[in-house]
Amino acid sequence: MVIAVDFDGTIVTHEYPKIGREIPFAIDTLKRLQTEGHHQLILWTVREGQLLDEAIAFCKERGLEFYAVNSSYPEESNTDNQPRKVNAELYIDDRNLGGLPDWGVIYRMVMSGIPHDIKSSEFITDTPPQPKKRRWFGRKY
Ligand SMILES: [Mg+2]
Repeated sequence: MVIAVDFDGTIVTHEYPKIGREIPFAIDTLKRLQTEGHHQLILWTVREGQLLDEAIAFCKERGLEFYAVNSSYPEESNTDNQPRKVNAELYIDDRNLGGLPDWGVIYRMVMSGIPHDIKSSEFITDTPPQPKKRRWFGRKY
């Protein structure tokens, strides 16, 4: 599967244009998705030029290299500086609706092969929780 991964706020804490601290397990998880899951990772970021080079170097120093950067294929280049959309099947981005899950959750979702099937009890329902009724056997005498 081709997976596009954001950088600021996703791999590192959001301190753009500086490089933030690595978000726990982000890089290890991405490396495992490559080696264990044989997924192709595209770095997909608003960074360009030197800021982009710094992000690529940050990941490379930690052993993470991408299949492509800001493009769908390694040989494709983005020369017109137009907004681009890459051809990925899945996006990992801190601006996801619902935010960015823990990287352990991301790993399990991707490796399970059903990353769109979110099962969480923490989703907000459309009805507010009702106060629990006290039952007769719960009363204190
Ligand atoms: Mg981001």
